[in-house]
Amino acid sequence: MKASPYRLLPSVDRLLGDERTRELITRHGRKAVTDGLRQRLDALRDGLASGTGAPADVAPEAIIDAVRVALDARSAPSLRRVFNLTGTVLHTNLGRALLPQSAVSAMIAAALAACNLEFDLEQGRRGERDTHVEALLCELTGADAATVVNNNAAAVFLVLNTLAKGKEVALSRGELIEIGGQFRIPDIMARAGCRLREVGTTNRTHLRDYAAAISPKTAALMRVHASNYRIEGFTHSVSDAELAQLAHDNGLVFINDLGSGTLVDLRRYGLPHEPTPQEALAAGADVVTFSGDKLLGGPQCGIVVGSRELIARLRKSPLKRVLRVDKITLAGLEVVLRLYQDPDTLAARLPTLKWLTRPRDDIAAAAQRLLPAVEMHLPSPYHARIVDCQSQIGSGSLPVDLLPSVALAIDTGQLRRGAGAAVARLLAALRALPVPVIGRLSGDAVMLDLRCLDDEALFVGQLDRLAVPPSA
Ligand SMILES: *Cc1c(COP(=O)(O)O)cnc(C)c1O
Repeated sequence: MKASPYRLLPSVDRLLGDERTRELITRHGRKAVTDGLRQRLDALRDGLASGTGAPADVAPEAIIDAVRVALDARSAPSLRRVFNLTGTVLHTNLGRALLPQSAVSAMIAAALAACNLEFDLEQGRRGERDTHVEALLCELTGADAATVVNNNAAAVFLVLNTLAKGKEVALSRGELIEIGGQFRIPDIMARAGCRLREVGTTNRTHLRDYAAAISPKTAALMRVHASNYRIEGFTHSVSDAELAQLAHDNGLVFINDLGSGTLVDLRRYGLPHEPTPQEALAAGADVVTFSGDKLLGGPQCGIVVGSRELIARLRKSPLKRVLRVDKITLAGLEVVLRLYQDPDTLAARLPTLKWLTRPRDDIAAAAQRLLPAVEMHLPSPYHARIVDCQSQIGSGSLPVDLLPSVALAIDTGQLRRGAGAAVARLLAALRALPVPVIGRLSGDAVMLDLRCLDDEALFVGQLDRLAVPPSA
């Protein structure tokens, strides 16, 4: 009779007593390691039973190694840093704005210790969390009052629900936007309890269209900045000032949702102009809503600026409590807002603006530095070359306003069948690197737009791990 092959397997106890297991227990805990060893032994037993197991696998060292790999993979964080080489600076799927170190330090401090979030240190009594940023927001935008919620979608929702619930809001058909990720103005209005009163046509809306839509049921006129598209050709829209006048003549509120608000005129930095809350308020808006993590370059939040009376109503709404921001966000936002007090140093200190204004020649120099290393690590038949390209601002900023940039374009040399699959394999291999590299596909090439590459050494240092599987 043959001896049982299972006798080759070490016992769990023996493995737990092994010197090499001790370090695993320190890192992952005794329970996880014991469970991992049991699972590994079960799998090996199955392998031996079916005759597929290799003898080397049952060595204690091999078993502990396998458990180490499995436990390390399981405990790797889900949310990880990546290289955004997509060419879209404010990429919603990649987390939008990157924060300045000074803001991050303030966020850490707020997270680590108790703070005066809702506590008035002078009076020694309950305070209001908005106070930490309200004065700054008013100073920077010219508003009388301001409040902050979880994101701009929440800001729009809070404004509509508080100021127009059960009533009509008039909005041009040219501004019935979808931002993506379930943010569609008609749906948000319905959920906020308002009735959307569509005005005008997709390409042309006149003041008389708004005037004709006003009835005793109307609560507000609304403008939504058409951030992610542009209507061109035979068009007409009504100015903010005219809308504000019409609203106020009829005792209505004028709401302006800017989306990607920024607090400076971006033309100052050579970028396309984006409407600012200052301009919107000066043109007569009663409340203006915008995002904290788009062009503003701060943490995710939604900011509402406007009249003292209307902001006070927002603050009293139970929805404000539902949508409020946490102390960490407020700590970061406060620091970012202070940077706007000195527009001269803003582009150097605010990462979003730094990346948006990065000169083309600077990116081209990076491409020259990186090309040899990338070429060296690409398996045949891939080739990299330096090409001019255009970055997008992203996050609802006009996709037609592009920034000259430089990319490494990687392809398989010539157009041929299977080229699409080959670049898809390369994109996947780039995503599988320790710090995943996210590029974009352009025709039959992988484009790595280098505008936002912030750590060239880290990028190059991991290229020897690039493993592109050969075609099937
Ligand atoms: C982006 C955007 C929103 C939504 O803002 P979030 O910060 O994504 O919640 C709303 N309105 C407009 C016009 C936008 O551009």
